[in-house]
Amino acid sequence: MSATREAARGSGNLRRTMLCLAIVGHVAAAACAWMGEWAWALCVLLPAAFVVVHGSLWPHSPLFGPVLRSLPAKERLVWLTFDDGPDDDTDALLDVLDRYRARATFFLVGERAAAQPQRVRALIERGHRIGNHSMTHPAGRFWMLTPAAFERELRSTQDTIAGITGIRPRWFRAVAGLTNPWLDPVIRRNGLRRVSWSGRGFDTVDGDDARVLRRLVRAIRPGAILMLHQGLSPGRSPQLATALLDELAARGYRTVVPEPEDCLDATTSQLLKGVRPQSGVKVAVSPCEDNSAARASRPG
Ligand SMILES: [Zn+2]
Repeated sequence: MSATREAARGSGNLRRTMLCLAIVGHVAAAACAWMGEWAWALCVLLPAAFVVVHGSLWPHSPLFGPVLRSLPAKERLVWLTFDDGPDDDTDALLDVLDRYRARATFFLVGERAAAQPQRVRALIERGHRIGNHSMTHPAGRFWMLTPAAFERELRSTQDTIAGITGIRPRWFRAVAGLTNPWLDPVIRRNGLRRVSWSGRGFDTVDGDDARVLRRLVRAIRPGAILMLHQGLSPGRSPQLATALLDELAARGYRTVVPEPEDCLDATTSQLLKGVRPQSGVKVAVSPCEDNSAARASRPG
């Protein structure tokens, strides 16, 4: 067995161990409370609850399922991603990406996609990829959805995007990066893989473009997954994209839009089905570069 497979298996064992400890901790705390040992109940419950809360709220936590946080690349390439679209700025954003010969993955909200199918088609026609970002974007309660609610959110988005473009997304980005134990089986059942990010500018909560850009630029490194948003004030996402693409071009970086199973050898594909708590989902980039990479270059 290869070292990478052994690592994947070891990571899966670690995840199962952590989950078992969390469950045992909650059961033991309930037993202590039933016996009136409240101090012991609290001592056992707190660490067990911390494991569960961390797994649910930390966007990169693989506790409840594998998640890709960065690409295993040594070259100067990044995966540019835009969440929450489409919106009225999508057309302008596509023009910016064209000017820089850059490609991106757009994690669309299903109901917004259904309302603007021409923009969804334009994303594909102009060489970009589409990911699933739920149907209704229930940011405040995503972490507490039931399996049935997750199924509705993910499947209806898959169906909506496939109905418009003929292509079912392969990547899923959790709303606000939140998860719980019921999400991962639904992700897998819908043929998706979860991806988070390695860099973001907090563009939805910080109105200062300079600060947002500084955060994104600090995150530029080989294999970085950079997250920006649509749905900001009019004109803002194309402006931020322009500034970021300028920085990427100045540093000699290019953009890639990896797709999991299309691009992978058998070993790596197998790893996608496993769990790697330390480093997230394994994915290969290089086999896809000829088809999907574009060098970010300053417009002439
Ligand atoms: Zn979002």
